[in-house]
Amino acid sequence: MEEFDYYEILEIERNASGEEIKKAYRKMALKYHPDRNPDDKNAEEMFKKVNEAYQVLSDKEKRQIYDTYGKKGLESSGFGFGDMEGSIFDIFNSVFGGGFGGFGGFGGAQKKNEKYSRDLGIELELSFHEAVFGCKKEIEILYKSSCESCKGSGAKDGKVTTCSACKGSGRETFSQGFMTFAQTCSKCHGSGEMSAEKCQKCSGKGYQEKQEKFEIKIPEGVDNQNQIRVQGRGNQMPDGSRGDLYVEIVVQEDAHFIRHRNDVYLEVPVFFTLVMLGGTIKIPALTKELELKIPMGVKDKQQFIFHGEGIKSVNSGKRGNFIAVANISYPDKLDEKQRELLLQLHQSFGYEESKPINCLEGLVEKIKNWFK
Ligand SMILES: [Zn+2]
Ligand SMILES: [Zn+2]
Repeated sequence: MEEFDYYEILEIERNASGEEIKKAYRKMALKYHPDRNPDDKNAEEMFKKVNEAYQVLSDKEKRQIYDTYGKKGLESSGFGFGDMEGSIFDIFNSVFGGGFGGFGGFGGAQKKNEKYSRDLGIELELSFHEAVFGCKKEIEILYKSSCESCKGSGAKDGKVTTCSACKGSGRETFSQGFMTFAQTCSKCHGSGEMSAEKCQKCSGKGYQEKQEKFEIKIPEGVDNQNQIRVQGRGNQMPDGSRGDLYVEIVVQEDAHFIRHRNDVYLEVPVFFTLVMLGGTIKIPALTKELELKIPMGVKDKQQFIFHGEGIKSVNSGKRGNFIAVANISYPDKLDEKQRELLLQLHQSFGYEESKPINCLEGLVEKIKNWFK
């Protein structure tokens, strides 16, 4: 077996943490996975090495033996490699969660030689009502469809050459002081390929845009930033398959109801006379009218919670709460009679007009002393 260093193959430091090892493995395993590199012996060899390195470095005991005695130490400890090949995909699946059937399963990671991603994302604006109760929406999308003339390569007659800027790696590196940075090759946009001559039909883009209209179902209770996946409505790849469409929800604000997660707040005007009289008022909630009992002495901004009258959670199906917030309101002006009545009320508590009420009299005297 060829000698190679496990740390070097995963491009990590010797003191890398378990998490860093796993991360490096993910990156390398995806890069060299046979599905991504069909008929590439070199990549296949690298894929095996990456898996071997991960199998050793992810195991504390094996890593320690390797660090101290090298690969020979592992072999003499009974950790052979003869039976390894069969387990490579087991390792891969254990890290990637199994069910590995093409890269579409990863939200459509872009393959190196593809000009665009499989999946498509759009935003969809909904009214408060549509989001709370769910709805059906007709949407119109523009998706990319692989150019038939150049089979998605963007090159005339499908003739491509290796990108001269990055030599096919799809990445370019540059140094700044002691640091080296890597970024997607600006010349080939990461594809690693260049056209000998541009395809005229698609001007070298490798795709055409197509319009499509269809209806989607919005479940009850969606909120801002929720994403709805619509299978098979993404971009069309050179092999004819289509990725998925991700619809990100944007909910318009309502003039009255304020949403916080699955709770709904409503400011309820409480007339100042009710503050002392108390009483029951009807308030509009999401699905029906609710009766709000205003207690005598209600405070401004006091909250009254109606459990389970809020929005149905899109995840758990459980309903949030409806919260009425008292907003004490006063009349702008009084007519003669109202003024007279209020005055009577005022005096009935033993107060005289334009005189401070009893409890503050001491304070007024005190302040007068400060003015001196
Ligand atoms: Zn074309
Ligand atoms: Zn390039």
